[in-house]
Amino acid sequence: MKVIQCWDDGPVNDLRLIDILRRYQARATFCLNPGLYQDERSFGWLHDGQEVWRLSIHELPEVYEGFEICNHSMTHPDLTGLTGERLDWEIRASRELLEKIFQKPVLGFCYPFNAYDHSTLHAVRSAGHLWARCGQNGKHIFPPDDPLRFSPHCHFLDPEFRLKYEHAKKKEKIFFFWGHSYELTSEDMWVKFEGWIKEAGSDETVEWSFIDDLFG
Ligand SMILES: [Zn+2]
Repeated sequence: MKVIQCWDDGPVNDLRLIDILRRYQARATFCLNPGLYQDERSFGWLHDGQEVWRLSIHELPEVYEGFEICNHSMTHPDLTGLTGERLDWEIRASRELLEKIFQKPVLGFCYPFNAYDHSTLHAVRSAGHLWARCGQNGKHIFPPDDPLRFSPHCHFLDPEFRLKYEHAKKKEKIFFFWGHSYELTSEDMWVKFEGWIKEAGSDETVEWSFIDDLFG
């Protein structure tokens, strides 16, 4: 079974996550908003009382070297309210900027707040994306009916994560989860997550995969 994982919003916490992923040669996809980065690291918001900071735009290529990059829109708005030039900027210009920053093709999109409608789908498709991630459904997920509505099985903190992973291992070719590294808010959670990455990586029936490789 192939395991795919998506991590969103590009916070400084990704540094620790990537450290773990590299240690076990685990592949992962990072969904980024290129319009929200500044020259220096910048304060983003509070999560569970902890400050979430964004990386600086200059460190992105090095931090995410070797990982898959996914377009998460320029500035993370609800895209369903947008039209015309603004919609195009959030989707097409964002993809172009990510390709310029990382010097490689960006083929995937992730809908901010999992919000999309007919015009969003059209804009994502016409900007050249081959796949897009939407809300989780937990059931059979691959191949999706529409690659622009590709659903993960679950969030990484889903209480049934383990159950769904074991179930997918028996019945499916893919297990797909998502999350934010800033949701790892305690040492305990980091240790537990690293333990799982190590365990999954040493399972001969499991292989890490990028999403582009499923749709390319
Ligand atoms: Zn997001």
